[in-house]
Amino acid sequence: MGRWVAPDKGVQETVIGGTSYRPDRKGIYNVESPSAERAMKAEGFFEAALNPYNGGDAQRGFTCVECGFGSWFRKCSRCGHENGTPERDGE
Ligand SMILES: [Zn+2]
Repeated sequence: MGRWVAPDKGVQETVIGGTSYRPDRKGIYNVESPSAERAMKAEGFFEAALNPYNGGDAQRGFTCVECGFGSWFRKCSRCGHENGTPERDGE
């Protein structure tokens, strides 16, 4: 299960695979389906735990999917990979 935040705060509802998801009062989507999480990630959603504005979590920033470098920013400061960009959906 993951907690996701929409890239656009104006988003009130998103439909993934026929299921509609709505954010809670903090704008966080609680998603239990791994495939829905992947779809959200592809849409530019990011994990609430990684949201620096959320605070309070031990894990902050982004971990680069290319080189594994832990970066505060979405764009890896080591290799320049833009994390959180849409990936090819293998399904
Ligand atoms: Zn990197």
